[in-house]
Amino acid sequence: MSNTIFHKIIRREIPATIVKETDDYISVHDIAPKSPIHVLIIPKKTIRNINDVSQKDTELLGRLLIGAKEIAELLGVQENGYRLVINNGPDGGQTVDQLHIHLLAGRQQGWPPG
Ligand code: 5GP
Repeated sequence: MSNTIFHKIIRREIPATIVKETDDYISVHDIAPKSPIHVLIIPKKTIRNINDVSQKDTELLGRLLIGAKEIAELLGVQENGYRLVINNGPDGGQTVDQLHIHLLAGRQQGWPPG
């Protein structure tokens, strides 16, 4: 059984503020927000990161992106805009070894990222 902090959130073993949940994913507010709005979209299927996806994940990956759009609508940020980020591996800044999409909003996001 995979045991990252996100698996524990999915199993309700640790608390989190849930934004939206489907059969495919749970989305929660980040515990240490890097933007006024910072939501994580976490697939329930164990996937370490993008290196581990395959063609059989095509539909799931699509549903995660559509989920991000729906969550942006839910939070009322779709018009002002938002940034979606996937940190992948050590140089990508990934600290939790379960795939997740960051949705950052509520201010102008800097570019390029640091
Ligand atoms: P990564 O660095 O892997 O791309 O993103 C991990 C994110 O998970 C970080 O933004 C971090 O603040 C967040 N995080 C770490 N532990 C917890 C937790 O226990 N609960 C929530 N909601 N977010 C967490």
